[in-house]
Formats: sequence, C-alpha cells, structure tokens
Amino acid sequence: MPLSTRCPLVAGNWKMNGLRRSIAELDGIIDGSRDLPEHLDLLVCPPFTLLITFVERAAGTRVSLGAQDCHEAPCGAFTGDIAAEMLADAGATAVIVGHSERRSYHHETDVQVCAKARAAWRAGLTAIVCVGETQTERDRGSTLDVIARQLAGSIPEAGRPSNLLVAYEPVWAIGTGRTPTPEDVAEVHGMIRNDLVQRLGSEAGTGIRILYGGSVKPSNAQEFSAVPDVDGALVGGASLKSAEFIAIAKAYG
Ligand code: PEP
Repeated sequence: MPLSTRCPLVAGNWKMNGLRRSIAELDGIIDGSRDLPEHLDLLVCPPFTLLITFVERAAGTRVSLGAQDCHEAPCGAFTGDIAAEMLADAGATAVIVGHSERRSYHHETDVQVCAKARAAWRAGLTAIVCVGETQTERDRGSTLDVIARQLAGSIPEAGRPSNLLVAYEPVWAIGTGRTPTPEDVAEVHGMIRNDLVQRLGSEAGTGIRILYGGSVKPSNAQEFSAVPDVDGALVGGASLKSAEFIAIAKAYG
C-alpha cells in the first residue's frame, strides 16, 4: 500500500482532564476542523464521563471520539473498569491501549495490552497501541530493543490498517516539554514500520499508521510531521486547548 493511502490522524488524549463545561473546547475543535484539509482524520479521547455527550455533540462532524483505556473482558465483576463494548455502545470508534501512564501506574504488561487490543477489535473499535522507552532505556542504548519487545508482546497478529494504529511515545518526552530529534523519531518509526511489515505482512505493515506522541505542540508539530513514517500525532497537554490542537492538526494536513 503506498504512503499516500495512510492519511494522517491527529488524536487528542485528554487524560484525567475535562468537566462538562469543557464541551466548549470540543466546539472549538469542531469549528476549527472545518478549515482543515479533508484527508486529515481527527480524534478526541476525553475521559469516560464526557464520552457520550461529546459523541452526541460531534455527530455529523469530522471529529471522531475515542477512549483512553478498556478492560479486556466484555463484562463482569471488574469494579471501576470499562469494557470495549461499553465504549462502542457510547459511540467511540477507537481506544488507546498501553499508554505509558497505564503501563507504569497500573503495571500493565504487554500481555495485558495485547488482550486489550483484541478486546477493542471484538467490540469493533480501532486500537491505538502505545510503545515507548524510558529515559534510562534510551541512555543505555536499548531503545530499539525495548520497542521491538513491546511491539512483539502488545500487537496481536490480526493487526490491520483498519483496526490498528501504533503510537510511538518516548516516556521521557510525555508531558515534559522534552522531545527527541527528528532523526531519533525517524529511526524508531522506521524500525516500527519494518517490524510491522515483517510480522503482519507487507500490505498490513505498510498501511498501518504510526503516530508520534510526546510534548507535541504547535511550535514543533511541523518538524515531526515531516519525518518519514510519521503518520500523525498523539497529543496530550496541547489537545486540551482547541486552538493548539487545531494548530497542530494543520501541521499534519
Ligand atoms: C500523551 O500522554 O499521550 C502525550 C503525548 O502527552 P503530552 O503531549 O502532554 O506529552
């Protein structure tokens, strides 16, 4: 599949931020999206509490809604968790799995992340699987090994462009204002691309979109969008302000 079929996607991860009044930011994103090139996909992942309201508000617009995590089971006695089927029922089209904050604060393993990606597919959602190295791992030169291990453990074999995105998010760049160089990003994204092609086959591996995430802002988005095999962005802090999110999206348009 040629590169041109991988239309860029810019996704906002609101994390544990947002109250009902934050719908004003969603309105700003919807308004701003009208001036963006058509081939660009936009996704907002608010907290669970806002999902249904946001889905209803964004109905008929080009802004899709996603979630930030799901449980691997379809239902059951898992207090405080949420099933992929519930997200789909709420109108989500995608779910982030394996974010480094889940891997670190909730001790999620690659095996669990893989099960969550399968759960997303069972419910008809696209899985956005996050991978990324810590500062210590980068310092000791094991970045590519860590990413390879996470990909092998977290991505089920049925990964396809229609059900999977991979987000490269160096842990040390998340929320810190520090970013890798474009050359570093190119190296990791190139490695992820090769890995996907090797394991999922040429058509799937070439078509799956790979996002970069970690302190993406309007001021650096252009730089990352120009890197080969960067097919969009996963944006945390800067996605909370519609003007910043739209400015980042423009860089990928
Ligand atoms: C994230 O947590 O997915 C992220 C990329 O955060 P930030 O943009 O704030 O670094």
